[in-house]
Amino acid sequence: MKDTEIARLIALETDRQNNQCELIASENYPSFDVREAAGSILTCKYSEGYPQKRYYGGCEYIDQVEQLAIDRACKLFNCKYANVQPHSGSQANAAAYRALEVTLQKEGKLKDRKMKILSMDLNSGGHLTHGSPVSFSSHLYDISFYPLNNDGKLDFDLIEKAIVENKPDVILSGYSAYPYQIDFSKFRELADKYDLKFIVDMAHIAGLVAAGYHQNPCDYADIVTSTTHKTLRGPRGGLILTNDEDLIKRINSAVFPYYQGGPLQHIIAGKAVCFREASTNEFKEYIDNVITNTRVFTERLRDLGCICTDTENHLMLLNTKESFGLTGIQAQNILEEISITVNKNMIQNDTESPKTTSGLRIGFAALTTRGCTSEDAISLANIIYYYLNGDIDKESAKEKVNLILSHLKNIETV
Ligand SMILES: *Cc1c(COP(=O)(O)O)cnc(C)c1O
Repeated sequence: MKDTEIARLIALETDRQNNQCELIASENYPSFDVREAAGSILTCKYSEGYPQKRYYGGCEYIDQVEQLAIDRACKLFNCKYANVQPHSGSQANAAAYRALEVTLQKEGKLKDRKMKILSMDLNSGGHLTHGSPVSFSSHLYDISFYPLNNDGKLDFDLIEKAIVENKPDVILSGYSAYPYQIDFSKFRELADKYDLKFIVDMAHIAGLVAAGYHQNPCDYADIVTSTTHKTLRGPRGGLILTNDEDLIKRINSAVFPYYQGGPLQHIIAGKAVCFREASTNEFKEYIDNVITNTRVFTERLRDLGCICTDTENHLMLLNTKESFGLTGIQAQNILEEISITVNKNMIQNDTESPKTTSGLRIGFAALTTRGCTSEDAISLANIIYYYLNGDIDKESAKEKVNLILSHLKNIETV
């Protein structure tokens, strides 16, 4: 690369990623093929519109790329229609809400009022786009929330109570920091009982769904949105799925021209590669290992006396305040000293602010891509426990981390 300033920063970031244990639950390392597609000359091409319905000439190959991505997404998630153009998970959610809003307007249900969405309390693991005051979602829509129960789990009696109290038009499931399996069929029952539209945002668990390790929301929801870069291990981007012929038309109009302009065809090509990879037995085995690693890590922390959630997927929450007397941000910074990267996260009934928090969210999607074994996961639990507890010094902790790093795959050749 001729631009030495950017080349230098890319090299430094590559080194940083190679030389630390990535335990942020929303990150992953896509394959070389995904990155090659995402870095390809497809970036040059304008292709506003959809396959066979473009506003530009010269789209004969681009049409095939996008159609392959759509077909592979539909096959992977066993659903009828897909929109592969959203630039991110947040864009996918914006378009999904808009598609339902237009539908409800046509049904005459939104006379002089905003569409009402019932989503999960943000402190319990919902996403910004599910109604945070700093997100578009809370400005365009009337948002109310359902809580988790005292065990930190979804409780369909509490959810039904929130429906009766708030009378939403739409109910939303799928979260950023929920460590358990989600029973979408129960949401569907409530949606039918109260005549609600049902959206699932599977951004975090899409890889588990693809591999058959989670109930498939496409069997129950009106619209399913996702990212492609978390457990699904594709390029950074968004995805929308539905089985409803009328809804896909409204979803397509909501993505382009309502919210977006020209699609990122290089990223769409990367998504197509990722959807093919995610349909293999190798990927199934990978997801199996992610879940095992997260489970043995959590069990080890439990055995050592930590206060943390259980796990039934790729992530868990550790209460650092009760376990070590540290806030989430303190624990995050201390672990960064020994090249373990995690993010602070609100825990149930957190009394600290979102900038401080009382805990960490930890996941094994990224590290398992590099070949992390369950022995490594148990070692990491030991290192994290003894270092946060002040039982071992920085040098010996770093030495143990380096031992793990020494046999992990290079992030550029995973
Ligand atoms: C990560 C995430 C998103 C948003 O993804 P971006 O691509 O960062 O916009 C949306 N919903 C959930 C539940 C997420 O975890």
